[in-house]
Amino acid sequence: MEKTEETLSVPEETPETERKSKAPKAPKAEKPAKNARKDERLRQLQNSEFGQMGLSREILLALDDAQYETPSQIQKVFIPKALTGEDLMGQAQTGTGKTAAFAIPILQLIKFDENSYDPQALILVPTRELAVQVKDEIEKLAKYTDLTCLALYGGKLLSPQVQALRAGVDVVIGTPGRIMDHISRRTLNLRNLKIVVLDEADRMLDIGFRPDIEKILRQVPQSRQTLLLSATIPPPVESIARKYMREPEILDCSLKEIASETIEQFYFTVAPEMKFELLLQLLKRENPHQAIIFCRTKRGVEKVADRLSREMQSVEAIHGDLQQRRRDRVMASFRAGKTRYLVATDVIGRGIDVSGISHIINYDIPAFCDDYVHRVGRTGRMGHEGVAFTFVAPEEGNELTRIEMRIDKLLKRDEIEGFSGLPKMRTAINEETSANEETKAPPVRRRRRL
Ligand code: AMP
Repeated sequence: MEKTEETLSVPEETPETERKSKAPKAPKAEKPAKNARKDERLRQLQNSEFGQMGLSREILLALDDAQYETPSQIQKVFIPKALTGEDLMGQAQTGTGKTAAFAIPILQLIKFDENSYDPQALILVPTRELAVQVKDEIEKLAKYTDLTCLALYGGKLLSPQVQALRAGVDVVIGTPGRIMDHISRRTLNLRNLKIVVLDEADRMLDIGFRPDIEKILRQVPQSRQTLLLSATIPPPVESIARKYMREPEILDCSLKEIASETIEQFYFTVAPEMKFELLLQLLKRENPHQAIIFCRTKRGVEKVADRLSREMQSVEAIHGDLQQRRRDRVMASFRAGKTRYLVATDVIGRGIDVSGISHIINYDIPAFCDDYVHRVGRTGRMGHEGVAFTFVAPEEGNELTRIEMRIDKLLKRDEIEGFSGLPKMRTAINEETSANEETKAPPVRRRRRL
């Protein structure tokens, strides 16, 4: 349970002035060519799967900047339903894109109000690390909006948090203990809340946050929307949902399939700039019957396929931007065994059901653990043997760990003789990415004039 590190007497105050909007309002004069490019980009985004969900242009542009090209499984089912305002329970693990699954509806549904200083959305999380992660994700997706967010967790001084709350915040992310602390000091007022999220609900209850969560839920407006995310739905989670949610629909987004035992799975530690050389060396060593090389983005697919076809024969690329006719042709050629190397994105990967694939190469580690399971599951089919290799950059150690937790198995480290995938200075992966934000004071973007 969290302790209060600081005793503060905080006088109740009412804001005297309007909150300032984050984005510069006056539109700059833009060149016609630049405008046309922007319009074209927006048009493409509106036609994308995210665009079809009716998201605002600000969110679509931020998704594009983040290179989120297609929604993950949970995002596909969760976002459209959450946008209708109903209460939802999503069963999904970390690494599935669950944060954006609730962050996007929040950013779409709440509107910046210059006269309101109180948060409109509250996200309860079990740990400070997750609070920081969720805050980062929301800031990334809210970059073109005026909405602000703030993470509140223990182990930090209260006064900067109070100061930031006073300046006006739209989305608060916090651990239940610290949120209760602010409520009892009257530095956080929940009367304006429209959406409450319980993230990793099973973990929060395991840690012993149930009393705090219940106290918080009893104080928030009845009319709010409640979203609950949990890897598992044990009876305590169900009981919270029954008590505090309005007939929530349960969306099971946990992928049941796990990577088959018959598939050998390896990883390479490699710097991003050495990946292509590693790919060439690996293909030379393995001499695959047929391989799929997975990249995260369409641009990545194009680049790798282009370079690879200069070095090898029988290379094709496939991704969501290709016309259906072309995709069908590429797939027919791969299925017939005429194409040996197929460079693909995840969207396409899901539809590939070809029995001769001997090798899966994850040129980019997948964004979601479930995509790893999908990708790897393309090999070892119909009794054939399969092997999967994943390229892991030194800073992607956490992603590798998440995959290993998801499949409940450790990937074996592989190396190519005489080839080092790392520049001299780098040594090992798993360099813990410290939550360095914890050392900074919360951002105060908008201030009242005092
Ligand atoms: P989460 O399960 O929310 O921890 O997300 C796992 C990772 O996926 C995070 O690094 C996100 O930034 C990333 N992510 C979330 N949604 C998408 C998407 N649609 N496309 C690509 N990456 C995503």
